[in-house]
Amino acid sequence: MKVINTIQEMQTEIIKLKSHSKSIGFVPTMGYLHEGHLTLLKRARVENDIVVLSIFVNPLQFGPTEDFSSYPRDLARDQTLAECEGVDFLFYPSVEEMYPHSLSVRVVVEERTDVLCGKSRPGHFDGVATVLTKLFNIVMPTRAYFGKKDAQQVAVVEGLVTDFNYPIELIPVDIVREDDGLAKSSRNVNLLPDERRQASVLYKSLAVAKLAVEGGERNPHVIKNLISNMIQSETSGLIDYVEIYSYPQLKQVDNLDGTCIIALAVKFSKVRLIDNVILEVGQEFGGGK
Ligand code: AMP
Repeated sequence: MKVINTIQEMQTEIIKLKSHSKSIGFVPTMGYLHEGHLTLLKRARVENDIVVLSIFVNPLQFGPTEDFSSYPRDLARDQTLAECEGVDFLFYPSVEEMYPHSLSVRVVVEERTDVLCGKSRPGHFDGVATVLTKLFNIVMPTRAYFGKKDAQQVAVVEGLVTDFNYPIELIPVDIVREDDGLAKSSRNVNLLPDERRQASVLYKSLAVAKLAVEGGERNPHVIKNLISNMIQSETSGLIDYVEIYSYPQLKQVDNLDGTCIIALAVKFSKVRLIDNVILEVGQEFGGGK
């Protein structure tokens, strides 16, 4: 595995590989790798000639009061894990390399950002879309892999790839969870021990909601209340949102029907966690997957 710190070197390598018709699988991350990231890498390894992993904690997508400085980082550990997954190139640029001067152009996401994390984190998805635009131009991937844990991000990136005509195949990958159901996240290490125990309630509440839908419940308010009550009574976390929308459009639904996302965000003392389930809801019978 080759570690590359500069944009120019990364582009030169990629152009060389493309001239030999190699397919490039790209997994963009912020590092502190866990099983979720590794699942994306494994998939990329199987489907492409070359696998590029990027690790970049992108300041542009963090708000002024968010956890940019306390975001966990451990390059040595990540390097070992990436090597074990057969990554060919680890692209690890500095902030100065990616943003040498204030941006003269920035990508603004127009749709699907007035809800969920886009609403709670103003400017977050503009930061994500801007860095991904740069990364896509640097890595020029054939396929790019994203986790459904960040389901709104998947929807936004679909818009970016379609609207800006990137010849990239987007591959959404299922959420990888801990044994107790908690979605794996680099941020989980910043939970206090008590909070870590409580955090499994997030997924349990989504599982209860899914059961209710499978049992025939179609009223989003009833389902959201089920989830909120569970989180409020069983955790010390503060609910940021519990919402249900059509997916991937992220439009409000009066009744659950078709593909819907049930998504939540909960703030603990030092970390804000997100999770979701995406359900295929039939007219008469439940059938969540
Ligand atoms: P991050 O490093 O948090 O920016 O995540 C990098 C990529 O890994 C994103 O596409 C995430 O959606 C994905 N990812 C993070 N956690 C998980 C998980 N538990 N399961 C599946 N994918 C994940």
